[in-house]
Amino acid sequence: MRIDPHTHSRVSDGTDSPTQLVQRAARLGVHVIALTDHDTFDGVAEAMAAGDRAGVVVASGVEMSTRYSHHPVHLLGYGCHRDDRPLLEELRRIQQSRSSRLAAMADALSAAGMEMSVAEIRHQAGASPSVGRPHVADLMMRKGYVGDRDEAFRDWLKPGRPGFVPRYATDLTTAIAMIRAAGGAAVIAHPWGRGGERVVTAGVLRQLRDEHGLDGIEVDHQDHDPDARDLLSRLGQRLGLIRTGSSDHHGSGKLNHELGCNTTRPSAWAALNTLVAERGGQPSRR
Ligand code: AMP
Ligand code: FE
Ligand code: FE
Ligand code: ZN
Repeated sequence: MRIDPHTHSRVSDGTDSPTQLVQRAARLGVHVIALTDHDTFDGVAEAMAAGDRAGVVVASGVEMSTRYSHHPVHLLGYGCHRDDRPLLEELRRIQQSRSSRLAAMADALSAAGMEMSVAEIRHQAGASPSVGRPHVADLMMRKGYVGDRDEAFRDWLKPGRPGFVPRYATDLTTAIAMIRAAGGAAVIAHPWGRGGERVVTAGVLRQLRDEHGLDGIEVDHQDHDPDARDLLSRLGQRLGLIRTGSSDHHGSGKLNHELGCNTTRPSAWAALNTLVAERGGQPSRR
């Protein structure tokens, strides 16, 4: 049983439609996926319907943009009620902040010689309610300014580079509480990716678990080297956190993130869904 509970569609910054993503999972022999688009549930219903047709179990998820001590932390929420008012309002707030920074990004990049407009960025993002830097990167590629997303981030879009414009993100502890209140389970995505090991330390994880009810951490992820996976796995076990693994697939938007390249053990997936059931949420079908 191959379970890949962290994937993106073009409803956020992936490049497959939710239906294409599910068809890809079927083709690759991945039995269960969770769709975890950034800050939106909008693709989940389509993915679930496609899952019914393709024989893939599709679980509902979201990857929420949060902050812990000024550092961005991605928080996966599983099994949340997708009509939970406080959670939806918070996601809307993040989406609005994503939108309102686009003009400043377009201005900054145009001033650096990469002429672009907000309309072009929005067109690149299609119907996504969650416009992000990857869409800007894709536009930069399309206009011939950079070769790929990685180059766009490295030279222009990451903090400290001319095209970086900060946006709102939810406080991590508040986000954990919101996901739990919506019936869901909360798992930190790639906690030690991109320098996260300096912020999400063992002590912080212990506190997040004991005082805020964090349920799990992603261990097997392409941003973690073998040593990081080993350390995180032992840490998670010691702290009683559920340990997951995933591809974090983004279609052609990220290389080396093919669906099913990392997976979650069935026992860990079952443990997460037991928590969701206890909280009155919507556990994954089996
Ligand atoms: P945003 O949501 O607009 O802040 O953009 C964050 C998204 O961009 C992340 O979810 C990743 O998918 C992607 N990303 C962030 N940093 C990088 C990077 N250095 N290289 C490539 N993609 C990145
Ligand atoms: Fe992403
Ligand atoms: Fe992420
Ligand atoms: Zn992700």
